[in-house]
Amino acid sequence: MSMVDVGPAGPVVKVEERLFQNRYLVDAGRPHIRIKPHEAPSKALLALTHLCPAGCYSRNDKGQVEAVVDGCVECGTCRVVTAKTGEVEWNYPRGGFGVLFKFG
Ligand code: SF4
Repeated sequence: MSMVDVGPAGPVVKVEERLFQNRYLVDAGRPHIRIKPHEAPSKALLALTHLCPAGCYSRNDKGQVEAVVDGCVECGTCRVVTAKTGEVEWNYPRGGFGVLFKFG
């Protein structure tokens, strides 16, 4: 019995399985994305706990949003979603650091 689902276009691979194929070189102590200090997150910032494809955003016990961007795929979603609120400071990682895509 096969463990892989097959769709009309071929094998169906979950996003999580694809992301697992990537490799990351973490720039320790120099995250390329930072959240500005806040008491309560805006709706935009809060939405990132659901929107980030790499699951980098979460809420702490005070209800604030935190980010651990070690697995960031540099899609820019958080940058766009918080463009108006300015709560996220977004930069590309330094050269040689960040995500190494295995499949494009
Ligand atoms: S750039 Fe994309 S993957 Fe990286 S933290 Fe923002 S939403 Fe997540």
